[in-house]
Amino acid sequence: MKELVVITGASSGIGSALARRFAGMGHPLLLLSRRLEPMQALDLPDSLCRSVDVTDAQAVARALAEGVEAYGPVGCLINCAGIMLLGNSTRQPLEEWVRMMDVNVRGVLNTTAVVLPQMVARRSGTIINISSIAGRKTFDAHAVYCGSKFAVHAISESMRKEVSGSNVRVLVIAPGVVETPLLYQTSDADIVSSYEDWKRTIGGGLDARQIADCVAFAYGMPQDVSVREIVIAKTAQAD
Ligand code: NDP
Repeated sequence: MKELVVITGASSGIGSALARRFAGMGHPLLLLSRRLEPMQALDLPDSLCRSVDVTDAQAVARALAEGVEAYGPVGCLINCAGIMLLGNSTRQPLEEWVRMMDVNVRGVLNTTAVVLPQMVARRSGTIINISSIAGRKTFDAHAVYCGSKFAVHAISESMRKEVSGSNVRVLVIAPGVVETPLLYQTSDADIVSSYEDWKRTIGGGLDARQIADCVAFAYGMPQDVSVREIVIAKTAQAD
C-alpha cells in the first residue's frame, strides 16, 4: 500500500479536491475537518474520516494516532483547513481575528507538532501547507487573514530549513482566488459583495482541482527535490 496522506479541511473546496486527487493516486487517507458527512460523502477507498477541530490539539493527536494505526506512518500531511474572515480593522470583532489566527496558524501547528518529529525520526515525509497569495502580499480588508498566512509562510520556511538535513520536505502552495465557499464566512456583507464584483472582473477564481494538480506535482517530485513554494493565480488576477 502507498503511504498515508493526511488532509485537513477535506470537507469542502480545495481539501475535497485534494482528497479525490490523492485517492486517485492510490493513497490511503486520513481526512479531518469538523463536518464528517461531506467527507464521508466523498466515498473514497481506504479513507478514515474524523470530525476534528484543528484548534483542539488533543483531538488532532488522537485522530492522527488512529490514522497511523490503520495505515502506517504519515507520508504526507497537507494542512488545508482554514478560514478567511475579511473585515475592516476598525470594525471587525476581535473574536473573528482570534478565530482566524487559531484555525489558520494554531491548526497548522497542532498537526505539525505530532507529524514532523515522526517524519524526522523516519528520515522521510512531506508537509504541504496551503497558505495563500495573501501570505506574500497584503490586500484591503485582509489584515488579520494576511497576518495568519504570512505566519504560515514564515513558519514553513523556517521549518523547511531546520529539517532539510533529515530528508523531510516542507512545502507551501499559495493560491490566489479559488472558487470555493471560503468567502462566505465573512460577516461584512459589503466586503463580500465587493469581493464578488472584483472576482467577476477576472472571470472568477481558479478551479480547486488546479490547486490539487499543483500539490500532486510538488509531492510527486523525488523526495530529494523540494518544490519549496508555488504561487498560483488566475492570469487576470493582477495583485
Ligand atoms: P472552504 O471554506 O471550501 O474549506 C475550508 C475547510 O477548512 C473546510 O473543509 C472546513 O471544514 C475546514 N475548517 C475550517 N475551520 C476548521 C476547524 N476549526 N477545524 C477543522 N477544519 C476546519 O475553503 P477553501 O477550500 O478555499 O480553503 C482551503 C484553504 O485554502 C484555506 O487554508 C484557505 O485559506 C486557502 N486558500 C483559499 C483560497 C480561495 O480563494 N478559496 C485562496 C488562497 C488560499 P469544516 O467547516 O467542516 O470544519
